[in-house]
Amino acid sequence: RAKARGKGIVHLFERDLEITQRTRRELEADLKLALQRDEFELHYQPLTALRDGRVVAFEALLRWRSPTRGFVTPAEFIPVAEATGMIVAIGRFALQAACREAARWPGQIRVAVNISPIQFRTSEFLRDIAAALEASGLEPGRLEIEITESVFLDKTAITMANLHELRSRGIRIALDDFGTGYSSLSYLAKFPVDKIKIDRSFVRDIDEQDGNLAVIEAILAIAQKLGIAVTAEGVETVEQAQVLRARNCNDIQGFLISPARPASEIPGLIARVPEDFHRLFPAPARSE
Ligand code: C2E
Ligand code: MG
Ligand code: MG
Ligand code: MG
Repeated sequence: RAKARGKGIVHLFERDLEITQRTRRELEADLKLALQRDEFELHYQPLTALRDGRVVAFEALLRWRSPTRGFVTPAEFIPVAEATGMIVAIGRFALQAACREAARWPGQIRVAVNISPIQFRTSEFLRDIAAALEASGLEPGRLEIEITESVFLDKTAITMANLHELRSRGIRIALDDFGTGYSSLSYLAKFPVDKIKIDRSFVRDIDEQDGNLAVIEAILAIAQKLGIAVTAEGVETVEQAQVLRARNCNDIQGFLISPARPASEIPGLIARVPEDFHRLFPAPARSE
């Protein structure tokens, strides 16, 4: 009897697995069509300088509007896109669209584009970057690519060569989600990095948890020594922004300022964010 029941459980499990695999295959099939059907768009989230409240950059964040699934978040489709290799074509689309959009922004406002480690390691990556810059006419210094520490884990020679090549062309390199991966401070000295983005998990409890504040202070101290700029991600409260500002963190990004918004709202954000900022922070910033 136990055996029979065991078999039943196995069948149940197999059925679940079948369903999971089918769901996954369907997602893959839809994702493949999404690009040619033009279902992806980029939304943009401002990065604000703590010194004066000005918008210094926008991060481009992918959104998938599927006619059958509705709105699908990057957390759901990026892992599938990476596993199937589709991330290369999707990432190329994001790069081109972001550069085209940013070329219309005023002043020196930069655009930050997320690059998957898989996309970063392809042989066509540097060509894709050059093509996106050329087609848009965007100055290389206004493009910032966001990579995670996982790109440092293998193919070190290619990674290093790619990073130096990007740097020599004037493109900026940001380390995303800093502190969550296999963080090693030695990476910071070894690889050319212009900016660190402190992961929002550290920012979340800075007002309550001493431990996280100590981590943030340590990151800020080492970044300042190495001449690397720091952006704090996921800033949601005035208190968090004040703590970061008092410690000379360069920029903040988060729902306190604005979530990611469609490109059409960018002119409004460029005008509104500094006004809101000065209402939140009437006192002058502490000098270095
Ligand atoms: P990320 O690069 O770390 O982007 C920041 C994420 O945090 C975004 O989620 C953003 O909407 C969210 N966020 C910003 N401020 C706050 C806040 O104050 N509170 C909270 N709770 N969340 C905040 P999103 O847009 O869902 O993107 C998730 C991840 O998907 C990104 O994390 C990035 O790793 C990836 N991704 C997005 N677009 C692209 C892309 O074009 N290419 C690649 N390869 N990955 C992308
Ligand atoms: Mg990012
Ligand atoms: Mg991030
Ligand atoms: Mg993140």
